[in-house]
Amino acid sequence: MEPGEVLDLFRKAGALLEGHFRLSSGLHSAQYLQSALVLQYPEFATMLGQVLGDRTRHLDATVVLSPALGGIVVGQEVGRALGVRAIFAERQDGTLVLRRGFALTPADRVLVVEDVITTGGSTRETAAVAEACGAHVIGAAAIIDRGSTPARLNLPLQALVQLDVPAYTPDTCPLCAAQVPVVKPGSRA
Ligand code: ZN
Repeated sequence: MEPGEVLDLFRKAGALLEGHFRLSSGLHSAQYLQSALVLQYPEFATMLGQVLGDRTRHLDATVVLSPALGGIVVGQEVGRALGVRAIFAERQDGTLVLRRGFALTPADRVLVVEDVITTGGSTRETAAVAEACGAHVIGAAAIIDRGSTPARLNLPLQALVQLDVPAYTPDTCPLCAAQVPVVKPGSRA
């Protein structure tokens, strides 16, 4: 699946949003990828999961771990494609943790799966949850990489699309300077 085909799915689903957004990384951007709008369609979700599964099968993962909420649906699909468990970490008092009886052991080879990676910060944080259990994190996968820093990620990353959309800290954001109201995507966007 070519990057252009993936972006076409996002366009078809109205998932490429234009405006002034505060990303989960805290950075601001004029574009936002609302992957939930793509993943709501089973045929798209299955297709993206299968392609990511094909790209990561050689890593021999025993489990897929995703950060909630954004990573859950695509994580489930990649787990299905690889025939392994798919679990997720979620925030409790600001810290990412495993809940609901989910467990990882030193025998686990963990693939971290997200929908969109921006800085790599949440990928790194998700990997740390697995490492704290003694599990071996063998790689990361995402539908779209918005310009993560490989050094920061410190993991092999498979992404279907490499998209360099400018993102700014609030104090350098041109849209903030123009006093355009900022939206935190999620419930509203
Ligand atoms: Zn801004």
